[in-house]
Amino acid sequence: MEHNQNYYDDRKYCESCNAYVHYLMSIDHSFCVECGSTVRLFSKDDWQAFNEELKQRRPKGGRPRKNGRGKESA
Ligand SMILES: [Zn+2]
Repeated sequence: MEHNQNYYDDRKYCESCNAYVHYLMSIDHSFCVECGSTVRLFSKDDWQAFNEELKQRRPKGGRPRKNGRGKESA
């Protein structure tokens, strides 16, 4: 079975175009082929959804913190 996973691979979100667009890659950024703006991997909404999903997957447990007691120097 082949997953069509590269749907988002060849498109990124351009805020100027307000759409997923084809893009040109450079070292640090990708650029919209339509308007030349930098594109991002997700739209804000999708990014939020993505982050929410991550949060749900990864239960957030704070790191155990020592109470700064018992540290008595002289
Ligand atoms: Zn654009």
